[in-house]
Amino acid sequence: MNPWLVAAPVALAGVAGFTAYGAVAARSQLFGAAVSGTDHPRKLALTFDDGPNPSITPKLLDLLDRHRAKATFFVVGHWVRSAPSLVRETIARGHVLGNHTDSHPNLFFCGPAECREELERCTEAIQQATSEPPRWFRPPYGFRSPWLGEVVQQQRLHMVMWTLIPGDWRPKPQQWLIDRMKPIAEHAQALGATAPSRPRPAHGDILCLHDGHYALPNADRTRTLAALEYWLPRWRDLDLEFVTMNQMHGKAVEA
Ligand SMILES: [Zn+2]
Repeated sequence: MNPWLVAAPVALAGVAGFTAYGAVAARSQLFGAAVSGTDHPRKLALTFDDGPNPSITPKLLDLLDRHRAKATFFVVGHWVRSAPSLVRETIARGHVLGNHTDSHPNLFFCGPAECREELERCTEAIQQATSEPPRWFRPPYGFRSPWLGEVVQQQRLHMVMWTLIPGDWRPKPQQWLIDRMKPIAEHAQALGATAPSRPRPAHGDILCLHDGHYALPNADRTRTLAALEYWLPRWRDLDLEFVTMNQMHGKAVEA
């Protein structure tokens, strides 16, 4: 039997697996540098994708204010154009905006020109609403491609992934989402332990939640709000500091 008949599918499966890893794994640097943690284990970056959403974002801003927490919002260009005042309000209340493309495609299947256009149009929308270009970018679904890193760099953006993505878009019970967010408290508790069983982590968490839906207007994210209502005071009690992407510096975060 020709060994190539066996070897070729195995090799192809290996390449596909490697490519898929580079495309979605939050810590993979295969397709360009990406921020995948904060620069201190006590710094927690709250990030919200797929807004602005007029039925949820204002409530979220109030909730964050009540807990003196600042966050980073990765907004979708077409929603920015439909709610520019909400985007201005987000900035005015001390939060930071990031680019999450214009129409939220899976960039793994987009060529360089389409990637470029998706990022440019979102930046334009943000700039028109706020007069400030974004510095941060998060790819929809976390999917990257071999040329995305260069496109992001050319547009003077920095790619941001996450350490925890609880899946708040899933139709699951409230308690399920609260439980999925537990690792952040566990990480903070481990830092406080007198004899840590593992070496102290160099980085803190980046939590990825959603205040909108990329295609559906006024998406219901009340479970996300309720889970935050539960965790925000507990995280503060655990001495975590809420930071925006702008409040981190240096190469340390590009781990
Ligand atoms: Zn998204």
